[in-house]
Amino acid sequence: MRCTALLIEDNDQNRYLATFLLEHAGYTVVSAADGPSGLAIALKHLPDVILLDIQLPLMDGYAVARALRTTPSFASVPIIAITSYAMSGDREKAFECGFTAYIEKPIDPQAFIDQLLPYRAARHPAKESP
Ligand code: MN
Repeated sequence: MRCTALLIEDNDQNRYLATFLLEHAGYTVVSAADGPSGLAIALKHLPDVILLDIQLPLMDGYAVARALRTTPSFASVPIIAITSYAMSGDREKAFECGFTAYIEKPIDPQAFIDQLLPYRAARHPAKESP
């Protein structure tokens, strides 16, 4: 079964690049360009892993991560921050908000896919077979 990744990123070039890389690596990709749309798509598609930009219109990545973590079926779904915020304080805040891991921009194609390998077999709990 293909892993479904939800990509929430407002920068068109980054979204196209990440989508291309993910699809090339065998993921099914759904995407959004702002926080509220990303949350709606998450609830609809039940992605296996979520790639979440921090700086987003309407609702930032921290708020999206918090909202997901308070939704029971998303309590354990991997949420990976993709951000150019490289300072350690931001990293701590990301983990406090429920992020699982952190990938820094600019996106390096091989490193991007390699850093997602640990989550490749992740399955949204609502989709696991009994
Ligand atoms: Mn952004």
